Formats: sequence, structure tokens, C-alpha cells
Amino acid sequence: MKKTYTIDDTTILWDPSKCSHSGICVKGLPEVFKPKESPWVQTENASKEQIIQQVLKCPSGALSIKEQ
Ligand code: SF4
Repeated sequence: MKKTYTIDDTTILWDPSKCSHSGICVKGLPEVFKPKESPWVQTENASKEQIIQQVLKCPSGALSIKEQ
């Protein structure tokens, strides 16, 4: 099931069925992407721009941005 995380007017989508567990998000922004915690995406720990840049690096497309 897809999960959403909201930062201001931007929604981050995460689709676990697409996640290849490459760990790129965790290595790039460990203060935000914490697979052992709940919620595992903690958007309050970095700027929106930093999080968007990291989401765009997700190789599988599991993480994506929905701008409103
Ligand atoms: S970068 Fe994308 S594919 Fe890799 S662990 Fe994060 S969400 Fe999953």
C-alpha cells in the first residue's frame, strides 16, 4: 500500500512494492529516511528542498513527488 508524507504543499509518495531497498535514500539523507522507525520518513528533519532532491535519486521510482 502506498504511503504519503506531506511537507507544506508537496506530497511525497512511497510505494513499497517498487522499493528495491537499495538504501540510497538512507545513505543520502539518514536523518529523514529511517527504515527501522515509524514513520520511516521523518520530513521534519531536513529542508523540503533536500528531501525533494533525495527523492529524485530513488532508482526504482518507489519515492516520488506529487506537487499540488
Ligand atoms: S532509494 Fe528508493 S528504492 Fe532505494 S531504499 Fe529508498 S525508496 Fe527504496
